[in-house]
Amino acid sequence: YYDENTLIYLDGSYVKAFATGLDLYTQALHYGYGAFEGLRAYNTHNGPRIFKALEHFERLEKSCDAINIPYTWDNRELIDRAYELLSINNLRSAYIRPLVFSGSNMHLTSSTEARIMMAAWEWGPYLGQNLLKVEISDIQRPSSKAFPISSKISGQYINSILASSKAIKNGYDEALLLDQDGYVAQASSENLFIEKDFKLYTPPIQNIFPGITRKNVILICKKLGIELIEKRLTVQDIHEADSAFLSGTAAEIIGIKQVDHIIYKEDWEHTIGASIQRRYKNLVLENENYEVII
Ligand code: PMP
Repeated sequence: YYDENTLIYLDGSYVKAFATGLDLYTQALHYGYGAFEGLRAYNTHNGPRIFKALEHFERLEKSCDAINIPYTWDNRELIDRAYELLSINNLRSAYIRPLVFSGSNMHLTSSTEARIMMAAWEWGPYLGQNLLKVEISDIQRPSSKAFPISSKISGQYINSILASSKAIKNGYDEALLLDQDGYVAQASSENLFIEKDFKLYTPPIQNIFPGITRKNVILICKKLGIELIEKRLTVQDIHEADSAFLSGTAAEIIGIKQVDHIIYKEDWEHTIGASIQRRYKNLVLENENYEVII
C-alpha cells in the first residue's frame, strides 16, 4: 500500500507515510479492528498489585481470537511487562491499557500481523465518586448476532461513546442500554445491579459484556450470603428498584441515585451496594483482614 516515497496528508501537511511513526494504514484506525483491555493496579500493603491481571490478559487473548487477530504473546510475560511499566513510570496505582491492533494488511478477513501497546496512567474512578444520574438510552447495545459482544473489540466502543455522550448531553452521568430484545443490559462500559426487597438482581451473561468486576461482585455476594439473582430486567424493574449500582474496572463500584426522572428513596449508605462497594475496596487492596471480613 505504500513505500518509502509515499506521501500522505496529515494534520495540514504532506509527510512520508513511513515518517509518522504510526501505521496510518492499519485496519485498527480505519475499521476499529483491534482489541483492548482495562486493568487497575492498586497500591496495596504488598506494593502495587494488578487486580486479576491474568484474567484480563486472557480476555484480551479471547477478544483477539474472536476477530481472528493472531495473539502471539505469553500472558504471564505481558503481566511482567505491565509491572515493569508501572515501575518505570513510578506508578503505584494506575489504570493499565493494553491494546492489540492490526498491521497494515487491508484485507478485512484477518490480519497477518498484530502489534501490542500498553500504557499506564494514574486515574481516579472513571465516573467519579458521587452517586450517578443515569438515563435509559434509546441507543441499543449491538446484537450478539452482529458482533462478538462479549469481547472487547475497539470498533464496538462507538456504541458506548454514542450512548454515554448522549446521556451527558441530556444532563446525566451515564447511559443504560437495552439489549437486542429490549431488556436493560448494562451501562456503556459497566455492568448493572439493582436491589429490590433485600435481594440483588443482575442481567444474565447472554446479552451483556462479562465484566470481571461483575464476577467479583457475585463472589462477594456468595461470601456475604446475599441473594443474587441473574435475570433479564425490564425498564420497569429498574425504575421500581430500591437502589442500583454499576460495576467495572475503571468505574469500580458506584451507586446510582437517579434513573431517568426516578430518584431512588433508599439512602445509598444503607444499601447492599454500599456494603459491596466497601468489600470490593478491601478485595482490590488485598487488605490483611480480607479473608476475615468477607
Ligand atoms: N461493559 C463493557 C462494555 C465494558 O467495556 C466493561 C469494561 N471492560 C465492562 C462492562 C466492565 O468490565 P470489567 O468489570 O471487566 O472492567
